[in-house]
Formats: sequence, C-alpha cells, structure tokens
Amino acid sequence: MTLETKTLDLLPEAIQILESGFNGLPDFEPKVNLDSIRKVLNEVALRMRDNYPYQHPFYIGQMLKPPHPVARLAYMLSLWINPNNHALDGGRASSAMEKEAVAQIARMFGWGNSLGHLCSGGTMANLEALWISKCLRPNGKIVASEQAHYTHNRICAVLGIPFESIPVDSNARMKMSELRKTLDKGNIATVVATIGTTATGSLDPLPEILELQKEYRFRVHLDAAYGGYFILADNLAPWAKATYEVLTEADSIVVDPHKHGLQPYGCGCVIFKDPSVGVFYKHDSPYTYFTSSEIHLGEISLECSRPGSSAVALWATQRLLPMVRGGDFARSLENCRRAALKFFDLINSDPRFLTGQAPELDIVVWSMKATKASEASKLNDAVFENAAKANLHLAKANLRKNLFEEYWKDFTWDQDYVTCLRSVLMKPESLDWMESIWATLSTIVDEALRDSQLKGDMKSNA
Ligand SMILES: *Cc1c(COP(=O)(O)O)cnc(C)c1O
Repeated sequence: MTLETKTLDLLPEAIQILESGFNGLPDFEPKVNLDSIRKVLNEVALRMRDNYPYQHPFYIGQMLKPPHPVARLAYMLSLWINPNNHALDGGRASSAMEKEAVAQIARMFGWGNSLGHLCSGGTMANLEALWISKCLRPNGKIVASEQAHYTHNRICAVLGIPFESIPVDSNARMKMSELRKTLDKGNIATVVATIGTTATGSLDPLPEILELQKEYRFRVHLDAAYGGYFILADNLAPWAKATYEVLTEADSIVVDPHKHGLQPYGCGCVIFKDPSVGVFYKHDSPYTYFTSSEIHLGEISLECSRPGSSAVALWATQRLLPMVRGGDFARSLENCRRAALKFFDLINSDPRFLTGQAPELDIVVWSMKATKASEASKLNDAVFENAAKANLHLAKANLRKNLFEEYWKDFTWDQDYVTCLRSVLMKPESLDWMESIWATLSTIVDEALRDSQLKGDMKSNA
C-alpha cells in the first residue's frame, strides 16, 4: 500500500456541513450515471499507473512532493463549489481565504502591509514581478545568475526586457565581481537573486547583493520558488542562515506553495513589499466588479480566472500546520535537509563517488568516480537506469564544469559538462528510509561498476 486513503472517510461529513449552508433552496440534485462514470474513472486509474511513484520514499528524483492530505481534501471539498478567485462574485469565501493565506506567507518573510496573491506557479509569479520592474523602469535591464531558472530569460523575452546572465562560482552562487562589472555598465533595473536554485538548491549571496544595491540602486527580486520556506528551518549552515535573515529587505519575492508548501500543482505566490505597485494592475473591466467595494483579487493579478480551490487548500494546510519556526511544518523541512545531509555524507565518504558543494538546502548532486567527464557521465547514466529498474528513482542533471573544477582536481574535462546524479530529498520520510535507500543504491553502483569493468576488459582484449 503506498497511496493514503484513510483521510477520504472525512470527506462526507465535511460535504454535509457545506451542503447545509444552502438549506433554503428548492431541492435540486444533478443526475449522474454511476455505471458510465465508474467505467471511465477506472480507465483513468489504469492510465495513471504510468507514472513514477512520486508518493514513495524510494522516489528521490525530481522536485516533486505529494500534497498534504488536508490540502487534497480541502481542494476536493471546494470543487463542489468550484470557486473562481478572479472576482468576489465567483468566490467570496475562497478570496478571503487567499488574502489570509498570502498574508501569512508575507508574515513569514517579515512583511506586514504588502501586496500579493496566488497564481498558477513560479513562472507566472516571476513574470508579474519582472513586469512590475518594467513598469517602474521601462528601459532597465534585468540580470540573474547562470544558475537562475531558465524562465527568467524567457519571461524577459516575452516582456521585451533586456536580460543578462551573471556567471556563478563553484558553489553555483552569482559571482559578485561579475555582478559589479555588469552594474558598472549601467541601466540595471532589477537583480534577480535565486534563493534555492532549481538544479542544486544553491543560494545567491543576498547580503552582498543588498550592499551593492545601496551603491547602484536597483530592485531586488527574490526567486525563492523552491527555497522560500526554508526561512523557517533551524538547521541551515551559517552562510545560508545569514542569507535568510535578510530576505525581508528585498522588494519582491516569489515562493511556490506547490513545491515545498504541500500543495497540489497550480499554486504559486508573488508578494511585493510596497503595496503601491498595485496601481500598475489597474484596469476598467466592465463585467466583473460591481458587487462590492472590497478589493477583488482580479484587480491585483494578471491572470483572470483562477482556481479558488488552490487558495482553500493552502488555507487549510496553513491552518493545520502554521508556518512558524519550531512548528511541525518547519520540523518537516528540517528533516528534508537532515536527509540530504545524511545522504551527502554517505556519498562523500565513499570512494566510489565524487561530490561538489555540500547541499545548502535539501538537494544532493553527485557523480560516480571517474577520470574524465565523458566516462563519469556514462557511469551516471548507467546508475540512473539500473536504479530505476530496482525501483529507486533518481534524477540527472547536466552541470557545467565550473561547478566542479575546484572540487575535482585530477579530473579531465573532455567535455565542458558532466551528467550528474541528482536527488531532491523533499519528502521528510526520506530520513527514516535513508538506510534502505543507501543499501539499494550501493548494490546498484557495484553492478554498474562491474558492468563497465567488463566492457572495458572486452575492449582491451579486442
Ligand atoms: C520551479 C521554479 C520556477 C518555476 O516555477 P513553476 O512553478 O514550475 O512555474 C522558477 N524558479 C525556481 C527557482 C524554481 O525552482
């Protein structure tokens, strides 16, 4: 059994409570044909078996995390209403819940009177933040590190904003000397600092970026889509801790509740410290806004129709697991990081592997030991394939040599990147499963080494 279903028993009671809110209405129950729905539904279940087992601790691959049962239930429950958070007409309760949930996220970053909303994900959230940059400084350039999410470059193309990539150091952090050079050329409107890069979970040096901001006057936007919630964790390394301590000084921030926030997909969040940027969202829609003098979320977001269910699920999750230091939610993030550190230590102290930077959050990147990049990549491909056959699911990442050169001294770069193995340990259960994960990985690695040895022997005999 790997799929949690006990919590489904809680749904009928909640539906009854919801139903009784509509008691005065004449009876009306839409007709359904159970037999035909059952047939299709079971067909769906069969189709959905074609997936990696994201829910299981043996899935330690990509950035995928199951939603909390309360998020799943609250989302489902709200679908009997199917609220639209574009305007209060389409979802009064869920709009109020969105405002409360977003205010709690803002408070986590130390912001009180700010402006923010939910949206479909990190891409849309970043688009809105970069669009505000353009509204404030129409001809200004935007810069982000080479390890920033590729979406920034593409969003800038969509918005017609000039964009430049800043090189990174061997810890995948934006190089301050390079940033300064670019700033000296002038006309930088916004520096995007990534708080938790997608590939390695690295943090750009925010304290230094903020120092430069005093001198050069640019906006600081934080792409914390992945790493934002780690502000609550108490087991960060001192360098990371210092970075999280100054997040509050940025101008805007993006965090994805559908990454570490235990939400179903379709839940990103953008927040602006200065609520006055709201004026740029102004429009004069003749359709939607005549029922209330209160703010409609559609007046402060670019997307129009949006799932109110996302807000309901997020609100429920934050109600159950308040986002406070030392709380259960924070503890579970700390356990993800603990699992990553344990995994990294095991790999790091084993002569069969090569490692670079220790994880700053909960993402581990490593390689099989080899003498050159092409050989390492081939071995890593083999381990990836064999692991999947043994039901242990890893991910791969092509990473450029600048991330490893300082760490791997006697290594030949016959190509300028290496295909690494990568594990995003975003399920807190990974910690309890680490021994069993390690035992399985260890066997697979020995097999891969034996196979490559055999191939090598055959080649040298031929
Ligand atoms: C995931 C991610 C994005 C993109 O967000 P989506 O929710 O996938 O649209 C942007 N930036 C970073 C750092 C991310 O990790």
